[in-house]
Amino acid sequence: MDFNLAGKKGLVIGIANEHSIAHGCAKAMRALGAELAVTFLNERAEAFVRPLAEQLGSPLILPCDVEKPGELEAVFDAVRATWGHLDFALHAVASAPKDDLHGRVIDCSAAGFARAMDVSCHSFIRMAKLSEPLMRQGGTLLTISYYGGQKVVEHYNLMGPVKAALEAVVRSLATELGPQGIRVHALSPGPILTRAASGIEHFDDLLAQTARTSPMQRTVTIDEVGAIAAGLVSDWATGMTGNVVFVDGGCHVLG
Ligand code: NAD
Repeated sequence: MDFNLAGKKGLVIGIANEHSIAHGCAKAMRALGAELAVTFLNERAEAFVRPLAEQLGSPLILPCDVEKPGELEAVFDAVRATWGHLDFALHAVASAPKDDLHGRVIDCSAAGFARAMDVSCHSFIRMAKLSEPLMRQGGTLLTISYYGGQKVVEHYNLMGPVKAALEAVVRSLATELGPQGIRVHALSPGPILTRAASGIEHFDDLLAQTARTSPMQRTVTIDEVGAIAAGLVSDWATGMTGNVVFVDGGCHVLG
């Protein structure tokens, strides 16, 4: 079996700019021959995302705010009209209202909790539901989690419970979709400086601490995360589903 993604069609949601983890994934998937549909959040984001999507040779470059009714569905309508099927989809989407994210979990508002869960977790369920009929020959669904969903990480606050829920969703979807040959994983990268990450207080300290204490004594790159994402959607990974795959230089083994 050759290790490539030639002929595979994938959807990538979550590129904000060149530093995005989703961009690292898209570059690796494209380098292995996949054709990619790419989305941008809104008009402001389009200015950053469109040139990257064009470099990736994307035939579909579409708006997608998962909070706007109908936008995610419209993306899948376009995918169906263009390709008729989908081999993989990457969900690299997270957001939480700033006040709730920066406070203690005990203080977070019901509305902030619900919004963070909807954008960062339930949207993955919606994406899976829309992918299911397009993955008749099987496929792979990927999302991006973080270690803060398993253990308390200082300043990760509200996103800890949200990522815990996301990882539980991965296990449920893997079980529900496994019989159809649809595999589901979360990647769990170590800290990387991105736009979303800069919303977490004291993120620089987390980066510095990781570089100092992780088994590999450095942080990881979006290209390293991308290489694993590309491997997981390839036919070399057909024996795996339901994993949380750490790409964190070994941080998760530390107590
Ligand atoms: P990023 O800012 O580059 O990407 C976050 C993406 O989420 C953006 O493209 C943004 O447009 C999108 N998004 C936010 N709200 C949305 C909405 N309503 N609809 C559609 N898209 C929306 O940052 P990133 O670090 O690449 O984040 C990608 C994923 O990786 C997130 O799930 C994040 O929690 C996760 N993650 C990041 C790190 C890190 O250290 N950077 C570590 C582990 C996990």
